[in-house]
Amino acid sequence: MTPLTLRCAARSDVGRRTNNEDACFASPRLAVVADGVGGAQAGEVASRTVVNALIALDKRTTDQDLTQAVAEGNAAIAFVAERRPEYRGMSTTLAAVTVVSDCYEVANVGDSRVYLLRAGELTQLTRDESLVQELIDAGHLTDAEARRHPQRNFVLRALDGSPGTDPAITTVPARPGDRLLVCSDGLSDVLPDDRIAAVLTTRADRRAAADLLVEQALQAGARDNVTVVVADVEHS
Ligand code: MG
Repeated sequence: MTPLTLRCAARSDVGRRTNNEDACFASPRLAVVADGVGGAQAGEVASRTVVNALIALDKRTTDQDLTQAVAEGNAAIAFVAERRPEYRGMSTTLAAVTVVSDCYEVANVGDSRVYLLRAGELTQLTRDESLVQELIDAGHLTDAEARRHPQRNFVLRALDGSPGTDPAITTVPARPGDRLLVCSDGLSDVLPDDRIAAVLTTRADRRAAADLLVEQALQAGARDNVTVVVADVEHS
């Protein structure tokens, strides 16, 4: 059997912000979104730094080790923040998916997300590491309430250069015909899962799907940066 590959379309929109602190990358075996936080340009530096570490991983011919690449990205954030006072305190989320033989390996820190659309059904492969997710799990909030919560952007973990911030790793069997979505909270805060699923199932063309997701998020009033990677899984 030929190995599985990702065919990706990526879009990022600044939304109503003045700068885009999201970063993304897509290749035949890796799809990544990072959402940076920090004053001035620092959030952009944090998200770009961790994405660059994953790009370096993507260029290696050996098996990918997401945890190791995330650790390298986190160490690079620490290195930069130590030397440049204006970048101190910067941090970033990370959501990434790679194809390793017949499985997806999914890495997550914070509240960016990876979704799987399989046979018309949308499943979230990551669990948000956020205050509102904890409140949902404890039965104090519904999904809809969480989307309006004043602290909906409060993440419990982020890559800020502190050692030992390993990503949560999930492994899921891969199938040709699957469609993956990696996104920042600029999308998932304003579009509920059923609307995301509707776009992914009705737009066969991944570029059209990516465009429409961003367009619908902006129409729904997204104030944040909106970033999506739509990846179709095929035999290479
Ligand atoms: Mg965001």
